[in-house]
Amino acid sequence: MLQIQENVSLKHFNTFGIDANARYFTEISHEDELIELFADPQWLAVDRLVLGGGSNMLLVNDFNGLVIRLNIRGIVHRISHNDVFVEAGAGEVWNDLVNFCVDRNYAGMENLSLIPGSVGASPIQNIGAYGVELKDIFESCRAFEITTGTFKTFTKADCHFGYRESVFKTDLAGQYIIVLVKFRLSLIPRFNLKYGAIEQELVKRGITTPTTETVSEVVASIRVSKLPDPSTIGNAGSFFKNPIISAEEFTALQQKFPDVVNYPTPDGQVKLAAGWLIEQCGWKGKTVGNTGTWKNQALVLVNHGGATGQEVYTLSSQIIDSVYTKFGVMLQREINVIG
Ligand SMILES: Cc1cc2nc3c(=O)[nH]c(=O)nc-3n(C[C@H](O)[C@H](O)[C@H](O)COP(=O)(O)OP(=O)(O)OC[C@H]3O[C@@H](n4cnc5c(N)ncnc54)[C@H](O)[C@@H]3O)c2cc1C
Repeated sequence: MLQIQENVSLKHFNTFGIDANARYFTEISHEDELIELFADPQWLAVDRLVLGGGSNMLLVNDFNGLVIRLNIRGIVHRISHNDVFVEAGAGEVWNDLVNFCVDRNYAGMENLSLIPGSVGASPIQNIGAYGVELKDIFESCRAFEITTGTFKTFTKADCHFGYRESVFKTDLAGQYIIVLVKFRLSLIPRFNLKYGAIEQELVKRGITTPTTETVSEVVASIRVSKLPDPSTIGNAGSFFKNPIISAEEFTALQQKFPDVVNYPTPDGQVKLAAGWLIEQCGWKGKTVGNTGTWKNQALVLVNHGGATGQEVYTLSSQIIDSVYTKFGVMLQREINVIG
């Protein structure tokens, strides 16, 4: 039964732990409730915010509209030859789905272990970690078009996935609510162990024949050692994207800064490590009022307790300015700034 609450605190609905209020708030447990909700023109007229786990957003102000929290559950799986097709409701917790698949030796998601948030948000920014992106295992998703009240299936090609990008953040921003995501996994693992310290960690553990389970465990343990746990210190993971610049720009930059951390991209450009750039500007582990950057990773902005969204936003602007002044590189926020 669809219920609309008024003046709801979102403090426990965002991993930054920012205490902002939603003017209206509703939870959707079944896709029919979306049809019911938008049958009332009142909700077409207000600002809307779709919310999963709130782990990729910064609430700068109270939200003077309707927050729609996705809680559609359910996981269905089907094996066809060596392929495994898994469908999950948007409200499933991403890492629960990863564990579900890892437990059954369905390979493909293991490098994406322990990423916070919901299944429904995973295509929005094409989540990625340790050399794997959502697009590598994405088959399709089902989404509700708000203005027409109908459902549409998006294939991988429709989604225009890029680095932390999809059509849902660009051309179709705010128009669709993802209700279900379908993945294609495999019974035959093809592990991607080259990224980060995965290989080293496997060697350290004496693992010569990795399995989906051991790779997942290793990825999870590396993440725990590097990233702050949002349940103890508010954060939204990487606050900025790693900037991508042209080969010419990179050559000029490297002449001035020979140590600049870089990763060539397949299309001939160069990805820079935003964390390194920020660290070089002296921000790593710095506290500013109630906010600051994480001591082990300057790319992560944290709420030391009682920070407002505005405080965090101001710090992020200062970081962008100082990186631009020193390196001439403009950082872009990865997280969604709300309000
Ligand atoms: C400690 C930490 C580590 C992280 N590490 C990574 C990482 O390694 N890689 C990575 O890619 N991300 C990472 N993130 C970011 C975050 O986990 C992902 O972006 C995740 O997909 C966000 O999911 P969510 O449900 O919390 O989305 P939310 O924050 O609730 O929403 C994010 C955006 O998606 C929209 N949205 C959410 N659900 C839907 C839906 N069903 N339909 C339409 N729009 C929707 C929202 O409106 C918003 O614009 C990390 C975050 C934290 C806190």
